Amino acid sequence: MDAIDTPRIQAFRREVRDFVAGQLPEAIKQRTRQGFHVSKEDMRDWTAILHRQGWSAPHWPTAYGGTDWSPLQRMVFDIELALGWAPAPSPFGLHLIGPVIYTFGTEQQKQRYLPGILDGSQFWCQGYSEPNAGSDLASLRTSARRHGDRYIVNGQKIWTSQAQYADMIFCLVRTDGSGSKQSGISMLLIDMNTPGVTVRPIITQDMSHYVNEVFFEDVEVPADNLIGEENAGWRYAKFLLENERTASAYLPQAKQDMNRLREMIGALEGEHGPLSEDPVLDSQCAELELELAAHEMTIYRILTDNARSPSAAAASMIKIRGARLQQRLSSLWNEVLGVHALPLFTPGADSSYGEPGAAGAMSQFLIRRAVSIYGGTNEIQHSIIAKRGLHL
Ligand SMILES: Cc1cc2nc3c(=O)[nH]c(=O)nc-3n(C[C@H](O)[C@H](O)[C@H](O)COP(=O)(O)OP(=O)(O)OC[C@H]3O[C@@H](n4cnc5c(N)ncnc54)[C@H](O)[C@@H]3O)c2cc1C
Repeated sequence: MDAIDTPRIQAFRREVRDFVAGQLPEAIKQRTRQGFHVSKEDMRDWTAILHRQGWSAPHWPTAYGGTDWSPLQRMVFDIELALGWAPAPSPFGLHLIGPVIYTFGTEQQKQRYLPGILDGSQFWCQGYSEPNAGSDLASLRTSARRHGDRYIVNGQKIWTSQAQYADMIFCLVRTDGSGSKQSGISMLLIDMNTPGVTVRPIITQDMSHYVNEVFFEDVEVPADNLIGEENAGWRYAKFLLENERTASAYLPQAKQDMNRLREMIGALEGEHGPLSEDPVLDSQCAELELELAAHEMTIYRILTDNARSPSAAAASMIKIRGARLQQRLSSLWNEVLGVHALPLFTPGADSSYGEPGAAGAMSQFLIRRAVSIYGGTNEIQHSIIAKRGLHL
């Protein structure tokens, strides 16, 4: 990394670091440090603070409220935020539907939706997966039938993250069942407060409410809420998924985890003395740090090779690597804590006994099993690399 750590980048890094140190509220910082899912309020408040600085969506074009930063600056920015214990913003607006709207949306859609995404006041969720359409997403059956200037939507989505917070859902729906599975899909933007939309929680093994089922019963959606052309939704869906996989490289989170781990090792005593003097643990950390550095360089190379749009195979590759790193880091966090990691604390529960760093450890270990599932499973990413990267 030294070769790219120029004086200009160093100055930029200091500027971002000072901003986070000065602007991130202490209570939000401490909650992020614990490692639980971030609350709606923390995501909203932090996004609003970033927005006031013009930094809530650095990856967007300047015409829509983004920045003209280089890919390296954007990467440094994300890392500095994570290292300062800033919470990750909700990805569904800023990283997923925002770029779809400014790339394929109408002027009216841009004016209506982009400001609320940028300032953090409007929450979105992603209605892709259905009970029998996960990896095989094109098999989705939620239907939208056109009646004059409206669509009538019926069906069900599942695993919808943050649907309980969302004002809007971007949904893949079937508008034509006659051709190939992919050709009859459209993308609709649906107000979650429309009559006929029901959200039912799913409690995951970490005892958190993060994902949901969403049901649509005769939901009326204005035809103006269609993205692009009817039956061309598969194209927008794939554009969004590639952005999702690149955003899911999890580099900032992995760096945050590594810092947490090193801090904890520095503070804890093991059976035979300070953990910081345990050579086995030190080599386990060093191995992860090397992998993390390789991951960082790979992402940097991909971002700079392809400017704003990495290839599908590259996006899949960094998603797999990032997911594995996150899983291994959370495993080591639990190993280091030993028995202290066993209780499953939930956010806000009494965690005043045991090691202070243990509060979110088990919760995070459990939920991290899902990072190699959402956004497309590792097996699906391997198939994309084989087909689109290696042309097998
Ligand atoms: C915590 C969490 C949050 C999520 N958030 C959202 C969200 O916000 N919005 C949303 O739309 N979805 C969301 N998802 C859903 C996620 O995208 C799907 O779970 C994922 O795409 C896998 O689909 P599935 O669960 O139906 O599993 P399946 O597709 O049934 O897969 C089951 C197993 O079979 C394997 N498999 C399937 N097909 C193949 C194949 N062709 N080749 C090789 N192996 C295969 C898979 O790899 C997997 O191991 C979330 C999931 C989780 C766990």
